[in-house]
Amino acid sequence: MSGSVVVVGGGFGGLGCAHRLAHHDVEVTLVDRNDYHQFQPLLYQLATAQVGVADIARPLRGVFHKAKSVRVVTGEVVAIDPAQHRVELAGGTTLDGDVLVIAAGAQPNFFGTPGAAEHAFPLYSVEDAERLRSRMLGLLDSVDRDPALVDKGALTIVIVGAGATGVEAAGAFAETLKDIVPHAYPGLPVDRAQVVVVDRGDVVLNGFSERAHDYATRRLQADGVDLRLGVGVAEVGSAHVELTDGTELATHLVIWAGGEKAAGVVADAGLPTGRGGRVDVDADLTVPGFVDVYAVGDAANVPGPDGTVLPQLGSVAQQSGRWAAKNILAGFDGEERKPFDYHDKGIMAMIGRNAAVAELGADRHEIHGPLAFAAWLGVHATLLEGSRQKLAALMTWGWDYASKKRPHALVDRPDAYAIDWDDDDTTSAADNQAGD
Ligand SMILES: Cc1cc2nc3c(=O)[nH]c(=O)nc-3n(C[C@H](O)[C@H](O)[C@H](O)COP(=O)(O)OP(=O)(O)OC[C@H]3O[C@@H](n4cnc5c(N)ncnc54)[C@H](O)[C@@H]3O)c2cc1C
Repeated sequence: MSGSVVVVGGGFGGLGCAHRLAHHDVEVTLVDRNDYHQFQPLLYQLATAQVGVADIARPLRGVFHKAKSVRVVTGEVVAIDPAQHRVELAGGTTLDGDVLVIAAGAQPNFFGTPGAAEHAFPLYSVEDAERLRSRMLGLLDSVDRDPALVDKGALTIVIVGAGATGVEAAGAFAETLKDIVPHAYPGLPVDRAQVVVVDRGDVVLNGFSERAHDYATRRLQADGVDLRLGVGVAEVGSAHVELTDGTELATHLVIWAGGEKAAGVVADAGLPTGRGGRVDVDADLTVPGFVDVYAVGDAANVPGPDGTVLPQLGSVAQQSGRWAAKNILAGFDGEERKPFDYHDKGIMAMIGRNAAVAELGADRHEIHGPLAFAAWLGVHATLLEGSRQKLAALMTWGWDYASKKRPHALVDRPDAYAIDWDDDDTTSAADNQAGD
């Protein structure tokens, strides 16, 4: 058996696939716009300076330095030709193989909310998290210089979406403002800080159990988080957010955790797409009509055991990537490809210090509080790529827990750090087009 495979995306799905293929007589080309793998579940910790970039991003060439059959290419894929199993990179280079695996992940979905694409801060990449951290530091430094800016919403953080990402971000920012900021900025009026979570639904942690909803709600409220449920975001400006009930909040930091859709390059590939613009795949993870094209992870509607689509989770991406590799090898050997069999290990979400929820295994054995907190840390340390990262994460968490200091609180995105306090722009792309 031998063949060649192009894998688009070095996230959980792409790495799962490439790792499995690396042990076989297959030429793998792994292409990503970044030269690193990013661990999305810890992005909110990067945004709140709990961990540093090197703790959650690992160079792809380092990941595969021992796998001679895996070639890592850094480049932006701008076009996918599924019929030819070919992709085109910005600059014109093309890459093709006997098989194509689409593992390009997701991007934020702003659902056409005016101003959101321009002014909100999404949390899907290392770059997003660095921008967020720089903005947070810009706000704190501004209030440190001029406390009156609190009246302009300088200490108001609005988080759109009360799912796992929104809850984790809310817990982390609330804790940072309450416990960490007073050490670094003595005298800052943190008692006037607000973390507001907005969601159209009526529970936090949708997808988890009712007990988890109640636990997370109580815990967030105990940390002073203002939950606005049953209401959406009508508009985001550079200095405010307007809710669908007419409420307007002054803020310079709107974090978008309000939904996602498939990566942009997927939309134009002429593939069958369904919910969230994700590629619909058959049970064996191939794309209908393209026998040698697979789609996995967040870029695909990955079918579960009962045919329903599985949620966008690291475990689904990783397992579907590995399964695609198994089927690719079966295809090269002329053997039958098997339907994807997801091994459900459960779901978990961190809320704050000693507070998390975990629903373990397919039967969802539920734990809350310090035990779930410890389980969350253990599971996420294990999932990190590379021994150095695992060790570094555990040391960083231990340091953070004990010292309440954030050595990673650095400004590296000056554009996000700088705030024009006299501006309140609401211009959206739609407005721009209308004016053209
Ligand atoms: C903030 C956050 C927290 C999360 N927390 C958890 C959690 O606690 N537990 C959990 O199970 N899941 C969590 N998830 C979900 C989980 O991270 C995703 O389901 C998983 O990363 C999907 O893996 P993937 O490989 O499909 O996509 P990704 O990990 O997004 O990887 C896609 C890759 O494709 C690359 N790419 C995209 N487009 C192009 C292009 N045009 N050209 C070149 N490269 C491209 C990207 O750079 C990226 O490296 C979280 C997600 C987020 C955003």
